[in-house]
Amino acid sequence: IGANLARAVERFPGREALVDVPSGRRWTYAEFGAAVDRLARALMAAGTGRGDRVGIWAVNCPEWVLTQYATARIGAIMVNINPAYRAHELAYVLNQAGVSLLIASLAHRTSDYRDLVDRVRADCPRLRAVHYIGDPSWDELLAGTVPDGELAAREAELSCDDPINIQYTSGTTGFPKGATLTHHNILNNGFFVGEMLGYTERDRICLPVPFYHCFGMVMGNLAATSHGACAVIPAPSFDPAATLRAVQRERCTSLYGVPTMFIAELNLPDFAAYDLSSLRTGIMAGSPCPVEVMKRVVAEMHMAEVSICYGMTETSPVSTQTRRDDDLERRTGTVGRVMPHVEVKVVDPATGTTLPRGETGELRTRGYSVMLGYWDEPERTAEAIDAGRWMHTGDLAVMREDGYVRIVGRIKDMIIRGGENVYPREIEEFLHAHPKIADVQVVGVPDERYGEEVLACVIPRDPADPPTLDDITAFCRERLAHYKVPRRLEVLDAFPMTVSGKVRKVELRRVHGG
Ligand code: ATP
Ligand code: MG
Repeated sequence: IGANLARAVERFPGREALVDVPSGRRWTYAEFGAAVDRLARALMAAGTGRGDRVGIWAVNCPEWVLTQYATARIGAIMVNINPAYRAHELAYVLNQAGVSLLIASLAHRTSDYRDLVDRVRADCPRLRAVHYIGDPSWDELLAGTVPDGELAAREAELSCDDPINIQYTSGTTGFPKGATLTHHNILNNGFFVGEMLGYTERDRICLPVPFYHCFGMVMGNLAATSHGACAVIPAPSFDPAATLRAVQRERCTSLYGVPTMFIAELNLPDFAAYDLSSLRTGIMAGSPCPVEVMKRVVAEMHMAEVSICYGMTETSPVSTQTRRDDDLERRTGTVGRVMPHVEVKVVDPATGTTLPRGETGELRTRGYSVMLGYWDEPERTAEAIDAGRWMHTGDLAVMREDGYVRIVGRIKDMIIRGGENVYPREIEEFLHAHPKIADVQVVGVPDERYGEEVLACVIPRDPADPPTLDDITAFCRERLAHYKVPRRLEVLDAFPMTVSGKVRKVELRRVHGG
């Protein structure tokens, strides 16, 4: 990663590498390379060795990106910590990964990070030092340095197969797991994602997605620097209006988000007032994209080449992606086809045999992108990666005749109602077309008669006029098989979300399942 950045600095010294819209700070590649160099030396001067864990617990900000590259340059392992964590989760991650130096935001919204760190400090014996961004303790860190020879000697020791990053999974289905990734894993993935989008040094990528997650740090930052493009930070955390303002002001060519983010942007009351004509592409990933949303993204946000990616933290992350010239059907019906140098198969999860095209089974993937393992969890690693190095994704998918992959849902989310398999995604997609529904999630809840029953959790378009269960039943009748029709309805203002923007169905099931 260090060498890759050095090449971008050499090729595009005067082009912008990073723009922070909230603070107005901006860096050319020459300036960015110098800032990374300075932080790398400072971290070495602070005693950070190869393989030492450096935690980053911060909302999106330039220092996050500098830390990402500085740790990679000196072969330290950066540990991404979810900015939404509370004290006990923070302590868990600091101890689980053995973090010795922590870089943290001071505060964001209702979180006082310094106070939270102070509360857990005594329980984290490995943690030696904490530096807060924008605080005198940050300047103290940057005051340290080491001579050229020392940094060069360190860089000469490194291997592209060294672990350099522990990324915790989103925790959508349970407690997050720490995927351990190498230079080779994430740099290649970031590069190929950028290739598929046709990135050049003229691209400016608006990143409202969290850096703590691979969507921001790999598909965003690494895709940008490996093509000499510019990363634009619209806000410290997702803010739909700030995102569109940043696109307009910085003339961004690319915009990222999970579907719920695009929905929030499209639903802004003043959406039509933003000039988004500079956009051509972007990525929508993380969860399925409703057709209606995709149509509006293409037509009203000018993102004619928007790409769908499928992947998981454990696979660096992207395994399949749509191509620039794919049509609407492929962009909404599939998650694209397999990435270069990656293998994908769809198997019967019980036997592991590869299924014929068109049949639903578990998606498994193998290649450079598969993580080393879960940090310090050999048993969970062995459950996820088999002896042939295939990663078991836990996702249900279909490999179509044309080589495009359709994601059906997670094995864990599948509803079994009276012996019939019900795939929530199919029903969600269908209900999205209902005029009174702004967003919808379908989950299975325990039922005495059928084992599980189908529950639709709905955010109404107009809170004063939410759909009733009768509306929904009438809408589904004749068009959905009877066992797929939701028998229960909850009207909500918002869904419980992970910081990476995914709906926590576990939480919906827990709260509304009784
Ligand atoms: P955890 O593993 O902690 O429960 P998570 O699986 O949500 O959380 P991530 O690694 O962030 O953590 O997400 C990977 C998962 O996201 C995939 O396994 C898949 O279920 C889902 N996913 C990713 N991209 C898409 C997509 N384009 N369409 C549908 N689902 C997707
Ligand atoms: Mg997962």
